[in-house]
Amino acid sequence: MTITVFSTKRWVRDALDEANGRHAYQIRYLEARLERETAALAEGSDAVCIFVNDNADRDTIEVLAERGVKMIALRCAGFNNVDLRAADDHGIIVARVPAYSPHAVAEHAVGLLLTLNRKLHRAYNRIREGNFALDGLMGFDLHGKTVGIVGTGTIGRIFAGIMRGFGTHVVAYDRYPNDELVASGVEYVSLKELYQRSDVISLHCPLTHETYHLINTYAISAMKRGVMIINTSRGALIDSLAVIEGLKNGRIGSVALDVYEEEADLFFEDLSGEVIQDDVFVRLLTFPNVLITAHQAFFTREAVGNIATTTLANIAEFVAKSECANCITAQNAYG
Ligand code: NAD
Repeated sequence: MTITVFSTKRWVRDALDEANGRHAYQIRYLEARLERETAALAEGSDAVCIFVNDNADRDTIEVLAERGVKMIALRCAGFNNVDLRAADDHGIIVARVPAYSPHAVAEHAVGLLLTLNRKLHRAYNRIREGNFALDGLMGFDLHGKTVGIVGTGTIGRIFAGIMRGFGTHVVAYDRYPNDELVASGVEYVSLKELYQRSDVISLHCPLTHETYHLINTYAISAMKRGVMIINTSRGALIDSLAVIEGLKNGRIGSVALDVYEEEADLFFEDLSGEVIQDDVFVRLLTFPNVLITAHQAFFTREAVGNIATTTLANIAEFVAKSECANCITAQNAYG
């Protein structure tokens, strides 16, 4: 079994090498991102292993199929970057890592919320410059506030539990309400009501055709003035231009982003010596009430280890049975 790993970083290689001790697969590591232009590099591989900013669209999948690739093994939970219908059409199996550490992502969302509210990012810089003034650093008590959660799957449920621990009232929107959350006091409401009532809104739903630009001008106009929005899910859930407008006119009080619609050209690289060409992103960086991390919510020791172990276990199961429990098809993903 030969596997070509795209978008390799040192931590990816270390984790996969350790997990491969149990399998002894031939692994070829590439720094390149998977896209149509790089897909031919998988020549001679049975599987390709990809991450969140690789692009397995129809054109790319056609090249992979021509080169004999039989499996796309995602090192992540989200699969919005894979054309599942194209994969089905070419008989390529797609597998993902459905849950590697939902705690990592939920805890990062909480970290963003607390940092943004108490302005710790600004305080950190001030203190280092000998500025001990408190002006501009006032936050609000989280206790007693209403937190709205869009998507109460694996991560959203954990985030809800932590928020309940802070003494907030949690309202949620999901097509499939969770009975345990209801029993714990979470109130399911319509999306509109969630927008109207929430002081903080955290996004934990997948990116689909339905959720693309979920947070747009219309949604923002329904929200409480001064709302805090947190996105650790996928960048394109948010219309960045609408959010910039909302920040400028004060409808939005603050925003924390671990993901960004055009992140593929930015995140995971050291661009500190370069001129960033994305003007929308640079505008977001200028707001004192915007906090951005570069898709690191998943990045804990536990999660990275689990990702590597599950990715190779998915491949092993595919080798043994020509299918695997973590496989996704257009049919089971979209119905
Ligand atoms: P999950 O599949 O367990 O849960 C997703 C939930 O969203 C489900 O309950 C589903 O019913 C709900 N949902 C689907 N469509 C919806 C809609 N239109 N409106 C409201 N809810 C909807 O997924 P998860 O493991 O909880 O992950 C959530 C998202 O987090 C993933 O899709 C992924 O994009 C993102 N993620 C980000 C990171 C990171 O490092 N930032 C890491 C892992 C996952």
